[in-house]
Amino acid sequence: MFSNLQDKLDRAFKVLKGQGNITEINVAETMKEIRKALLDADVNYKTAKSFTDEVRTKALGQNVLSSVSPGQLLTKIMNDELTELMGGSVTELEITKSPTIILIAGLNGAGKTTFSGKLANFLRENKGKKPLLVAGDVYRPAAIDQLEVLGKQVDVPVYVDRNSEDPIAIAVAGVAHAKQNGNNVVIIDTAGRLAIDEALMTEITAVKQATQPHEILFVVDSMTGQDAVNTAKAFNDRLDFTGVVLTKLDGDTRGGAALSIKSVVNKPIKFIGTGEKMEALDVFHPDRMASRILG
Ligand code: GDP
Repeated sequence: MFSNLQDKLDRAFKVLKGQGNITEINVAETMKEIRKALLDADVNYKTAKSFTDEVRTKALGQNVLSSVSPGQLLTKIMNDELTELMGGSVTELEITKSPTIILIAGLNGAGKTTFSGKLANFLRENKGKKPLLVAGDVYRPAAIDQLEVLGKQVDVPVYVDRNSEDPIAIAVAGVAHAKQNGNNVVIIDTAGRLAIDEALMTEITAVKQATQPHEILFVVDSMTGQDAVNTAKAFNDRLDFTGVVLTKLDGDTRGGAALSIKSVVNKPIKFIGTGEKMEALDVFHPDRMASRILG
């Protein structure tokens, strides 16, 4: 996903490595190159600037200039810094309560329903849980059908009430249903909108209040670049979510949003979606993503 950025960084480092005698000016120039590459990859300006400033300070502090292989040391510093920027280490889901309530939020098309199915599958297969999916997207009948199909695929029951148009009542009834039926995780798929609007925010906030979820996962399409960061900020301001799910990382994304989201909303990325199939879900590893970025 970051091949473009990576190419540019490679080139920047080649320049640095090619210099027999590295000066502070060379480092500054390289940082400028890196900052440009990050901006081109759709990382927001503030993140790119603070990242390169931090790397530069560390590089000078660790005496990169007089080290045997400055390029290598600088790569390590950048790797560590990127890892830190994306959350440091894996942030596990909080799934100890029974039932654990997980609210799924995001705009239409972000991949909420698909992720709900994937998460149910992941929790059943990898964590030995007995999840219940709740079809809370009342405005799109197709979304209810879609969730039922996915539920069948991953062998997880789906709570549906086709007679209700009240997402809050459905969510609450879904939780009650889980308690009655011994489901220890409830995954509530919610309705999105094409863009952020007040009705959506009021509704999702009301669902949160009524169900008191332990996790609120904000799902966002990584291909939407800078918009992903803005949407994340708007949702977080209202919902105070507990984690981010970046979908469609299998596509040809510019991907810079992954770097920015954590620093802008200060919430961990917990999962990445890497395809349409139910198995195409990975726990987000900041160090792996950093290595992938830097190559
Ligand atoms: P929702 O409106 O937020 O519920 O979004 P959907 O779950 O319906 O997903 C919208 C489209 O994106 C569907 O065609 C999904 O198959 C697709 N999709 C979801 N997640 C991924 C992913 O990680 N990778 C790819 N390539 N497609 C995805």
